Amino acid sequence: MYLKGLTLKGFKSFPIKTDIFFEKGVTAVVGPNGSGKSNVSDAIRWVLGEQSVKSLRGEKMEDVIFSGTDTKSEMNSCEVSLILDNSEGIIAGEKEIIVKRKAYRNGESEFYINRNKCRLKDVREILMDTGIGKDGYSIIEQGKVEEILSNNPATKRKIFDEACGIAKYRYKKNDAEKNLKKASDNLTRIVDIFSEIE
Ligand code: ATP
Repeated sequence: MYLKGLTLKGFKSFPIKTDIFFEKGVTAVVGPNGSGKSNVSDAIRWVLGEQSVKSLRGEKMEDVIFSGTDTKSEMNSCEVSLILDNSEGIIAGEKEIIVKRKAYRNGESEFYINRNKCRLKDVREILMDTGIGKDGYSIIEQGKVEEILSNNPATKRKIFDEACGIAKYRYKKNDAEKNLKKASDNLTRIVDIFSEIE
């Protein structure tokens, strides 16, 4: 599985629809200071569900939407699509997976997988254990290497879990435990109601 392409529209310094295609192997993004290189990696993390404004180098979430220049007025929404090659079938389903996120100035945000509207949870689940998620090891940003080499066993464990394909099961186990707790609380409540009625 590899990143085949990225389409940006209205995201940070990319007001006009911009398609970036990646070949297999190493791709270097080069350009003068302030030309938008880091905005490209911000877009990748954003479409994968990044919710931290600070890590997207903004002050508020709407800072990811093109804010206008002297010649071009600001935009009211932005969208980023990430095209993943899935010809090896790492993810069950289509040979090409397109994850899209759209955001509006009023704070609304939408996610899509292969043009079907979905939740952020679905994006996270589909990419879990592929290393591609927002916290996956395929995005090595500044400070990540130090984090990996840190002495914090919990942090290291997370990275190894993702690489070994265990993260998904840990996530599902946590989810199941939460549901069990909810069901047990509901049961207690029903018993209470019954005893009140009797
Ligand atoms: P450097 O090499 O200095 O790190 P860079 O190529 O990584 O630079 P970026 O940080 O990606 O550059 O882009 C910075 C540019 O993006 C700035 O000119 C900034 O004004 C512009 N920019 C950021 N957010 C927005 C926005 N919401 N609307 C319009 N332009 C934006």
